[in-house]
Amino acid sequence: MNQFTITNAIIVPLTEKKEVVQTGYVRVKDGIISDVGREPAPDGETGPVLDANQQILLPGLINAHTHLYQVLLRAVWEDLSLLPWLKRIYGVAEVLEPDHLYAGSLLGCLEAIKGGVTTVCEHNFLNPHPECAGETVRAIRDSGLRGVFARTIMNTGEIVPLCVREKPEEAFQLIERLLADHFNTTADGEKERISFMVGPNTPPINTTGELLKEIRSFADRHSIGISAHVAESQSVVDFVREQHGRPGVVAYLQDYGIPGEKSIFAHCVHLSNEEIQILRKTGTSVSHNPVSNMMLGDGVAPVIEMLREGVNVALGTDGAASNHSQDLFETMKVASLLQKVHHRDAGVIDPYTVLRMATIGGARALGLDRICGTIELGKRADLILVESRVPHNQPINNLFSQLVHCAKSSDVQTVVVNGRILMRNREVTELDEGRIISEAQRAGRDLMQRLAEG
Ligand SMILES: [Zn+2]
Repeated sequence: MNQFTITNAIIVPLTEKKEVVQTGYVRVKDGIISDVGREPAPDGETGPVLDANQQILLPGLINAHTHLYQVLLRAVWEDLSLLPWLKRIYGVAEVLEPDHLYAGSLLGCLEAIKGGVTTVCEHNFLNPHPECAGETVRAIRDSGLRGVFARTIMNTGEIVPLCVREKPEEAFQLIERLLADHFNTTADGEKERISFMVGPNTPPINTTGELLKEIRSFADRHSIGISAHVAESQSVVDFVREQHGRPGVVAYLQDYGIPGEKSIFAHCVHLSNEEIQILRKTGTSVSHNPVSNMMLGDGVAPVIEMLREGVNVALGTDGAASNHSQDLFETMKVASLLQKVHHRDAGVIDPYTVLRMATIGGARALGLDRICGTIELGKRADLILVESRVPHNQPINNLFSQLVHCAKSSDVQTVVVNGRILMRNREVTELDEGRIISEAQRAGRDLMQRLAEG
């Protein structure tokens, strides 16, 4: 359907205006929001009409940092802090096959769609076979989601198995092939649905300074962004101090030009005030992943301090191996409550800010803010409809707060990405849900068995 109209919706565009349209309509034509406003809609072509019946229409949520295939590893290592946990995660590379990545990533995408996420940023870091990255990209493409695929490189580190320690020149060649494959084999109208980034994985514990310089020049040469895990735990900060004599990870990365307008740093839990200034001055975005930070006992990211300084903060789930879900509604609530309790100040963060972090904040962090993240004329139609008439969402007294603190991902009824309806009344329209679940079960069992034998 290349044209349709959603009517009778409570529209929350999530622009700077902080407005709500109580009974509104949105027209979608060729994947783009061609009209939006208060009813009655002016005359004009409508295409088929979807009556939202007073459901809440939001821009789709943006998961700014995850590792999709890790849904196969939910709740497997949940009592470990970051470095021993990473050792296990990296160890998966010894038995990981491209099939696991496809089946797991597709399940991760299905969970995203069913939870109202329309864009995922996949931070990819285990590539024991050349096909691994491509299989994850294929899963995102098949899912219909908008995706950013950040292909990272590791070339050092005691806890990194040899099979995923790459020679940078070979890794860069593989990334160039991945980009070429995507642009050569994808239909014109679909090309922009998936974009790419490059990155170090968790500097400096698994990347050398030389590699950081090469990553910066590769990113510039291809006009793509950089994604990295940054200052996730105190142990990483201790490492950079002991091994490199720098006060923090951001300060260290600044030496190699890694911060920048197209850079997204996941976590940023342990930062000095000076490092927050580096993020601000360079226009670097942060993906805040509170559930994962809490699960691994990392600490509390200085979200309020970053927001006050004007740093763009997005929200991510992180992989399911440290979350254990891909639920961005849950992440919004946790992000809000964690700052309130950390600062012992109930008013320290407002729900509208949290909603913007989960939408336009993510879009900005991923270089997609002209494409999605708000409901505005001319943007791509990445939209979700959330049921309001369920006991836990009624009565509506403060819509923004209730979307963050009351709504559940299972309230999402309809999901539209790029003008394609991927879910209608909770039924996915383009995917075989049962088959994706059974194939992921099989892949998960196989992966766990290989891990047990290995
Ligand atoms: Zn991560």
